[in-house]
Amino acid sequence: MKSDAFVESGHRKTLEVIVSNQNEPGAKSLGPKASSSSQRIDSQLAETIGSVDNAPTLSLTHDSLTIDGYSRAAVQTYWRIAEMKLGFDLGAQPWDFMALPRFMVSHAHLDHIAALPAYVARRRMMKMEKPTIYLPESAVSSVDAMLKCFSRLDRGRLPCDLVPLTANQEIELSRELVVTTSATKHSIPSLGFIVWERRRKLRPEFVNLTGDQIRDIKLSGTDVTREIRIPLVAYTGDTAPEGLDNCPDMYRAKILITEMTFVAPDHRKEKIHKHGHTHLDDIVARRNDFQNEIVICGHFSTRYNDTQIKRWVDKALPDRLDGRLKLWLQ
Ligand SMILES: [Zn+2]
Ligand SMILES: [Zn+2]
Repeated sequence: MKSDAFVESGHRKTLEVIVSNQNEPGAKSLGPKASSSSQRIDSQLAETIGSVDNAPTLSLTHDSLTIDGYSRAAVQTYWRIAEMKLGFDLGAQPWDFMALPRFMVSHAHLDHIAALPAYVARRRMMKMEKPTIYLPESAVSSVDAMLKCFSRLDRGRLPCDLVPLTANQEIELSRELVVTTSATKHSIPSLGFIVWERRRKLRPEFVNLTGDQIRDIKLSGTDVTREIRIPLVAYTGDTAPEGLDNCPDMYRAKILITEMTFVAPDHRKEKIHKHGHTHLDDIVARRNDFQNEIVICGHFSTRYNDTQIKRWVDKALPDRLDGRLKLWLQ
């Protein structure tokens, strides 16, 4: 995986990756889709926001996508895919994540939503557009009431759009990007997400025609193209392994971000599954299912230290899924 760069970085370093793209020749590219105007906006935003290192972030670049985030069970979980201007979960909000105009929240446990009011308030303070926060339908009225409580305490408005989601929905982020939702299995209602790139491709029956012939068919009113979708990033949030199994497209996404809360061999699987979490052994049992180019596992329980986690994973999966498995640890 030559294109991968797995680096530890505070949020300050992550921000430099975005900003340096316009200033330094040969700096890490944002990918072919980033236009110069959007880069200018990013640079302006970065200047407005400033740089404060308030929350840890690990970063991984694969092809043209940069994944930044952090995830430990009961502590905090948050992810960003900068090129998609999209975040997942708000257990904390690294200062520069406020530039993201939208977040998708997998479920309403505190380690996934505690920073939601702060994110809304910070965007308002910076005079940025109100954000859109997608979250499971069952959480919307309580989150709305919670925001109203904070408004009263803070004596400030907290403008945002809360969009209720259920499983098997489709959300259009842009012409190129669509998100689909799926049910995951956790101790409270929860959702997983897949971000798809959609492209138009010439229908197979027309591929051998000349440009003139295709133009004539087009002029006659026939659509010569069909839509194809490529699953780019899948995110499960917290889930028992059924969250993956019930949505096989998760196994096909280029990058899968999932959880491995438990790794110790003596931890009882039935109990772990009952609480809606995944064990290392569940990942091992599915090793042939992962068609992903990258499988990110995080949300480790705080009862383990990093060395223990790496040791148990290397014992159970010595090849780390042919190098595709990335443990989200420093
Ligand atoms: Zn959690
Ligand atoms: Zn949870």
